[in-house]
Amino acid sequence: MESLDSDVVARQRGERDVLTLPVLLLNRFFAPVSVTTVRRAFVLLYGGAAHAVADEGETHDFPSWLAQPVRTHDDPLPIVGGAVRVPRVLHLLRYDRAPRVAVRLTRRNLMIRDQFQCQYCGRRPTQRELNVDHVVPRSRGGLDSWENLVVSCRPCNLRKGRRTPVEAGMSLLTVPQRPRWSTATQIRLVVREPFEEWRPFLQAG
Ligand SMILES: [Zn+2]
Repeated sequence: MESLDSDVVARQRGERDVLTLPVLLLNRFFAPVSVTTVRRAFVLLYGGAAHAVADEGETHDFPSWLAQPVRTHDDPLPIVGGAVRVPRVLHLLRYDRAPRVAVRLTRRNLMIRDQFQCQYCGRRPTQRELNVDHVVPRSRGGLDSWENLVVSCRPCNLRKGRRTPVEAGMSLLTVPQRPRWSTATQIRLVVREPFEEWRPFLQAG
């Protein structure tokens, strides 16, 4: 099972090569688990590990999928003697776990967790005016962790300096924690333009 944050993420719909388009992976219970590439999707489909899910929710094994017509809004994958419809959603037949994909600790995810709001003064300046602040400064042994990083505006960052919030007489709006985003939420965050066909499966999360 590939991770959500793998190279799939960087590849968005604008890309020319259809083999790198994202495909939503569902577990045995039709819950979203990850996103992969068209290339990998065809390996799974061909090998019998997955069925392709069509618009009305019906599923197709590889031979059955090859027989599906390529319609105008589909992405065609050229093959010998024609083209095959690129699947948008794949049903993993033997995968029955509901994986908790760990949310990656990145500046962007921190911004989203803290809702682009300075966690000291509550202001929401432009993104450029926001920093990531170590609650316990690095110089004092503070770690790069969800629990020790918060979004802060520049003035608050300067005011706090190399002090702890207590020493600086500042307090945090919330206790920083690792976000508990559902797989569906994370997929929506990493794939900026989810396909229309994904919608029914992402709604639950
Ligand atoms: Zn502030």
